[in-house]
Amino acid sequence: MIEISGLRKTYRSRKVSVAAVDGVDLSVGEGEVFGVLGQSGAGKSTLLRCVNMLERPDAGTVSVGGQEMTTLRRRQLRIARQGIGMIHQHFALLSSRTVAGNVAFALEVTGTPRAERRARVAELLELVGLTGRADAYPAQLSGGQKQRVGIARALAARPKVLLSDEATSALDPETTESILRLLLDLNRRLGLTILLITHEMSVVKRICTSAAVMRDGRFVEAGTITDLLRTP
Ligand code: ADP
Ligand code: ADP
Repeated sequence: MIEISGLRKTYRSRKVSVAAVDGVDLSVGEGEVFGVLGQSGAGKSTLLRCVNMLERPDAGTVSVGGQEMTTLRRRQLRIARQGIGMIHQHFALLSSRTVAGNVAFALEVTGTPRAERRARVAELLELVGLTGRADAYPAQLSGGQKQRVGIARALAARPKVLLSDEATSALDPETTESILRLLLDLNRRLGLTILLITHEMSVVKRICTSAAVMRDGRFVEAGTITDLLRTP
C-alpha cells in the first residue's frame, strides 16, 4: 500500500544543511499498522510528510496505493491526498467550528454536496464514539475527544491510508490506550493501513504489526514486532 525507495530530504539554509531523511526504503502492506520509532530529530516527521508530499523529497520514490506521488501535479496531488488521512499530536482543529463543523469542513473541501454532508458527519462521529458531542466546540472537549474529532476528520474522504504524527503524545496513558484501541478497531473494521510515528516504544508494541527504528535520517533496524523484540 505504501512503497518508499531511496528517499532523501535535506533542509538547506545558508549556513547548514541537515539530511533529515537520508536514504529510507519502506514497504507497508495493505491493512498493516507500521510504526516508525525514534528520538526527536531522527527524521520521522519529515519521512511522514514525504508520504503525502507535504514535503517534496530531493530523491527517491513514494507510491501510495500504486500511485507514484513524487511526479504528481498539484491537481492530481489534491485528489491523491484524499486517499491519505492524517492525524496530529496537537489535533489541529478549527476552534471556531463545532465538532460537526470540523468534520464537515473536510467534506466541504472535497466537494461533498451539502445534503450528503450531514449524514456522513453523523456516521463519522458514530465511528469514533462522539455521537452526542456534535455541537460542542473544541475548547469544551478533553484531549481524547479532540483526537477523536481529528480521526473522524481524517477519515472523511474514506482514505485507505492513515498517517499518524505522534497522535497520542499529548495524551495521558489511559486516554492513549483508548485512542490506540480506536485506531486498531478502525484498522480491522475498515481495513485501514496505518503508518505512525512515535517516540514511545509502548505505542509500537501495543498496535503495530511491524516497525522500524530511525536515527539520523536512516532506519537502523526494521522488522516485525516479534523480530524487533527478539533482537538483543
Ligand atoms: P522527528 O520527527 O524525528 O523529530 P524531524 O523530521 O522533525 O524529526 O527533523 C529531522 C531533522 O530535520 C532535525 O534535525 C530537524 O531540526 C530538521 N528539520 C525538520 N524540519 C525542518 C525545516 N523545516 N527546516 C530545517 N530543518 C528542519
Ligand atoms: P459550524 O458552526 O461549526 O460551521 P454548522 O452548524 O454550520 O457548524 O455545521 C457544519 C456542518 O456540520 C454542516 O454541514 C452540517 O451538515 C453538519 N452538522 C451540524 N450539526 C450536525 C449534527 N448534529 N449531526 C451531524 N451533522 C451536523
